[in-house]
Amino acid sequence: MAITIPDIMLARLDPLANWVRSNSLWPMPFATACCGIELMATGASKHDIARFGAEVMRFSPRQCDLMIVAGRVVMKMLPVLQRIWMQMPEPKWCISMGACASSGGVFDTYAVVQGVDRFIPVDMYVPGCPPRPEQLIQSIIDLQAKIRQTGTLQGTEFGKRTEHKGPLQNADLPADVLTAPGDYTKSQRINLN
Ligand code: SF4
Repeated sequence: MAITIPDIMLARLDPLANWVRSNSLWPMPFATACCGIELMATGASKHDIARFGAEVMRFSPRQCDLMIVAGRVVMKMLPVLQRIWMQMPEPKWCISMGACASSGGVFDTYAVVQGVDRFIPVDMYVPGCPPRPEQLIQSIIDLQAKIRQTGTLQGTEFGKRTEHKGPLQNADLPADVLTAPGDYTKSQRINLN
């Protein structure tokens, strides 16, 4: 006979699981430009991100649960970003650090992604060019609060990640042109051939 755990017990375990998750974030640093220097400073002794349990930066996506995109992402790097994101197991979260990661910044060109949230889901945006380490730490604190409020043992909240939130698709565009749907699993790149 299968043993089932009553919903009431799972409900009482949720706050504990969320507290553990929020205080043991493992960042996956995707630092491509100058914001990466501020990210490094956040991990150094003066600001000491370890105070918030988020100092374990190991560049191993399968052990990470917090993607930090620090810097501009060019189109050639986009598949790398997406692959790393897909390799990270759920539950996972994403911080977009700086103007470039969030909106392309001053690089309003065809070669630069105009906001990584067009291709992967972003939980926190850190403004600035570059943001100070204190701002990144504040975003981690805010993310911890979000995890404690929204997390569930079953992970039902992550089903919403594939809802369409990006720019609307233009039906007149050819199929191989760059599109940025909210469903990041269906993102396409420009076919240069
Ligand atoms: S937001 Fe500013 S500091 Fe950060 S990567 Fe862009 S140009 Fe560099």
